[in-house]
Amino acid sequence: MSIKLSALGRAARRFPRTHLILSGALVITVGLIALTPESGESRPERLQTLDLPKPSASEELVRQESAQPVADVRAPAETPDEEQWIKITVASGDTLSGLLQSRGVSAAQVHRLVTGDERLAELATIRPGDSLNISVDEAGELTSLRYSPSRVETVEATLEDGNWRVENVVREYQRRTRFAEATIDNSLFLAGHAAGMSDNLTMQLANIFGWDIDFVLDIRNGDRFRVLYEELYLDGEKVGEGEIIAAEFWNQGRHLTAYRYQTRDGDVSYFDSDGNSMRKEFIRTPVAFSRISSRFSTGRKHPILNKVRAHNGIDYAAPSGTPIKAAGKGKVIFAGVKGGYGNVLILKHGQRYSTLYAHMRGFAKGIRVGSRVNQSQTIGYVGASGLATGPHLHYEFRIDGVHRNPQTVPLPKASGIASSEKPQFRLQSSRLAAQMTMFAEAATLASSNVF
Ligand SMILES: [Zn+2]
Repeated sequence: MSIKLSALGRAARRFPRTHLILSGALVITVGLIALTPESGESRPERLQTLDLPKPSASEELVRQESAQPVADVRAPAETPDEEQWIKITVASGDTLSGLLQSRGVSAAQVHRLVTGDERLAELATIRPGDSLNISVDEAGELTSLRYSPSRVETVEATLEDGNWRVENVVREYQRRTRFAEATIDNSLFLAGHAAGMSDNLTMQLANIFGWDIDFVLDIRNGDRFRVLYEELYLDGEKVGEGEIIAAEFWNQGRHLTAYRYQTRDGDVSYFDSDGNSMRKEFIRTPVAFSRISSRFSTGRKHPILNKVRAHNGIDYAAPSGTPIKAAGKGKVIFAGVKGGYGNVLILKHGQRYSTLYAHMRGFAKGIRVGSRVNQSQTIGYVGASGLATGPHLHYEFRIDGVHRNPQTVPLPKASGIASSEKPQFRLQSSRLAAQMTMFAEAATLASSNVF
């Protein structure tokens, strides 16, 4: 462990942003970073990040979404002409009522404005640098107001028959597809960095393939990956990054492919080219940042009862209050106190599977018998309720009512694309595959031109 920790320290100095990754998969990160050899100087050899070719209308390379606020195309009847808008920029020390009253708006009107709607109540907290547009009629009455609480959001309020009608307009980001590829000769994160990927994107990549590849143990020099991902733009300026939309990973001779797809139910997930889910039905460990303090066994001495009895689950020691995640999608069938187990939650997953969580400090908000939970949703918090020597989660996994070792039990794959949706999925995934090939070929050409 000391080797891993020193490697982590070294990597943390090299990557000050590492601490920003608060994903539950941090454990993976630590493992990946731990793989970094002492010399750590070499770099992935061949990487390309390409800008997009110019999009054509028939291609989906750039999905140019409506960047125009809908408000601009509203019926002009109640909207004053653009010239009548008065732009106000908030300076230090300004208050909304001060700003409006200095333009002839009465205190009563200001009051009516900020109490008219909760979106308008936010106006009371305007800050220096914010700006808003107002329009005032000849009688000095405030008739409309427009402001943007964020870059993508505009709130527009219009006085109608003495009441404020409020509209929220949210702009869509423009999305641009990017490509990155790298060969790993050091660590996944170093390769990702060198390919121009953020730690967040590399983490996404690790999460997509994390069900099939153990990023601590399975990664070898020469493993490589390709990624198509989205960047978000507003007014031609990059404002953030989106999701990975397709990825390929070559790991020790295996070739894995994943496509992002939104099902008709609205679930967004990753699937292989046959439409099988990349995920498993259950996560292996329901508590991040934990260590196993007691393993599954058919007979051991109980630390408090001092008797030999089977340990039907695994104990994960973690600080009190650490979130506990649902191992899989399911339904709460028990939430309450169960003797020495203290606070216990039992989830039923379909007909055959159930999971049990014991010694909890408490349940998450809204968790009660009958609640439906999603995989990895926080269901409660680590505690030491019942008979426990210290804060830990006691976790049990049952199939057809029989206790199985949560560490080794084979986990079923999550359900894939429904057959009725397969044609749509095939169409989309083959388009992504073609895009990936096109980018990869361009990258090869570009790199060979260098020499
Ligand atoms: Zn236990």
